[in-house]
Amino acid sequence: MRIFALALALGLSAPAVAQAQNDDRPDWAIVIHGGAGVIERESMTPETEAAYRAAMEAAVARGRDVLEAGGSSLDAVEAVIRGLEDDAMFNSGRGAVFTAAGRNELDASIMDGETMNAGAVAGVTNVRHPITLARAVMENSRHVMLQGAGAETFAEEQGLELVEPAYFFTERRWQALERALEGLGLPIPDRPDGAPEPEEVDHTMLERDALEHRFGTVGVVAMDVNGHIAAGTSTGGTTAKRWGRVGDSPVIGAGTYADARCGVSATGTGEYFIRLSVAARICMEVEMGDRGAEEIDNAGQAAADLVIQGALTDMGGDGGVIVLTSDGRPGWSFNTAGMYRASQVAGEDPVIAIYGDEG
Ligand code: ASP
Repeated sequence: MRIFALALALGLSAPAVAQAQNDDRPDWAIVIHGGAGVIERESMTPETEAAYRAAMEAAVARGRDVLEAGGSSLDAVEAVIRGLEDDAMFNSGRGAVFTAAGRNELDASIMDGETMNAGAVAGVTNVRHPITLARAVMENSRHVMLQGAGAETFAEEQGLELVEPAYFFTERRWQALERALEGLGLPIPDRPDGAPEPEEVDHTMLERDALEHRFGTVGVVAMDVNGHIAAGTSTGGTTAKRWGRVGDSPVIGAGTYADARCGVSATGTGEYFIRLSVAARICMEVEMGDRGAEEIDNAGQAAADLVIQGALTDMGGDGGVIVLTSDGRPGWSFNTAGMYRASQVAGEDPVIAIYGDEG
């Protein structure tokens, strides 16, 4: 009844109403990304590839546990991202890339598609789980986005887990910063207080990091048993970012977006995703598709392809998105060689993929 009234208010067509009430939808669904970029078979050792696949599989399992138990899509998004923030392989939380000044400045956002409430944080340096802080902003403040020292004060007031900035340090990201700064002709800052002694790093990783200046932003879109969608994204941003740069990940509508019908999380060079409002644009395309005469098989996939292979690529931007619609259909689209990604729909096996020619 509620969906019908809402659909009428939005001026949706009869087929769209039918689709919104789709009885065939699976109980729950989830889609996850771990960053997009120059991820090619040639530049991956079998061990690295296996480690990323295992991490994606573990992430899906964490989300599945929440959703199967009847947990909310918000809880699933937060639980999966918290795990990835603790995993040093990804550019979020521990393992985040460094700014040109040698700091880890973390950005995250979350959006509840049912209520269209949202929370985001930018440039935090001592909060172990930025995604949980973003959720606290959404649920326990009058604001949508907090940044820097103010966001950290709020985290403390909320009793969230704080860590020393050196907690986020990884040798791989530090050496990637050194290379990037050499390339840019910028000075290399001192190693941060509390950082461990320098150590050897897998060179294939560094080569790949140098090609892309990042890797491993994480994002999740989930649909729970009530059909509610939520989306979230967490990142360290781009290597050697300067002057308090903030990317798309904490910008609602750019890196993260969710409404009753559709959710998106993005990864890529944020400067493009902000200008194109990529995440919201994809969900607007889904809505417009619903109003059209033609029935589209996977509306989220079609909309994501349109925006990523179209507008983003035309602008010269690089990256990708995951998308999930309220009929429980996950999708993804990227214009880079690969994207770490995984999805699962209730009653089906998980799908794990890395390269462009899979899944
Ligand atoms: N979108 C992120 C940013 O620009 C980086 C990434 O996804 O790799 O901050």
